[in-house]
Amino acid sequence: MSEAEACVFCKVARGKLPAYILHKDDHVVAFHDINPQAPVHVLVVPVKHIQDLESIEGEDGDIVTKLFRVATKVAGDLRFSKNGYRLVLNNGQGAGQIVPHVHLHMLSGRRFLWPPG
Ligand code: AMP
Ligand code: ZN
Repeated sequence: MSEAEACVFCKVARGKLPAYILHKDDHVVAFHDINPQAPVHVLVVPVKHIQDLESIEGEDGDIVTKLFRVATKVAGDLRFSKNGYRLVLNNGQGAGQIVPHVHLHMLSGRRFLWPPG
């Protein structure tokens, strides 16, 4: 089994694993996190399997911009633009990345500490 075939976010993007999907286009899918760390916790992921930021190359060069655009749109749709939201990208195991498929966390609905834990 290839890395992408075994990947949970690839399965969600292909409709092979159920998720509460808020946005889907040819490049990006956004869905609720299964283990939310805030009243609203949405994951924004590329449809294509890309392990981490260092693996972005060639025609995928603008994927981070696309992730941020969708996160911003979802925050607006959910009416969190005004009160604010936190975007987090754990890149690499040492930073807490558990799922090896690039993803942006969009968190909102509570106060957040700084520095982050
Ligand atoms: P990270 O630690 O940055 O890799 O975050 C991975 C996130 O994916 C965690 O917040 C998990 O709760 C979430 N997660 C894992 N599997 C699923 C799933 N099947 N559906 C939705 N969220 C998931
Ligand atoms: Zn994947």
